[in-house]
Amino acid sequence: MQDLTPFIFERWKNDWKTRKNKVKRCPLCGGEMHDGMTTIPFLISEKVVVIKDVPAEICSDCGEAYMKSSVVDKVESVLDKLDELRSEMSVVHYEVA
Ligand SMILES: [Zn+2]
Repeated sequence: MQDLTPFIFERWKNDWKTRKNKVKRCPLCGGEMHDGMTTIPFLISEKVVVIKDVPAEICSDCGEAYMKSSVVDKVESVLDKLDELRSEMSVVHYEVA
């Protein structure tokens, strides 16, 4: 199960789950990582933006997802573009955003 508590982007960006380099082992449980997709909810000025299909390395044991810095940059630009959205909650796909 994924924890769907929205992240505050500025904090998430500096989180240990976002990394410059590939992680070989899960820092939480030591499990093996594999490439996959994840869904990340963000809380931005009281609006929720859910970004789907974000490339990530996912722990095969505990399911924790880790983002590379290139992905973090793209997420940032996606969130920038969404600033003008009026809706309380938006769902976007990483690739098409
Ligand atoms: Zn793990």
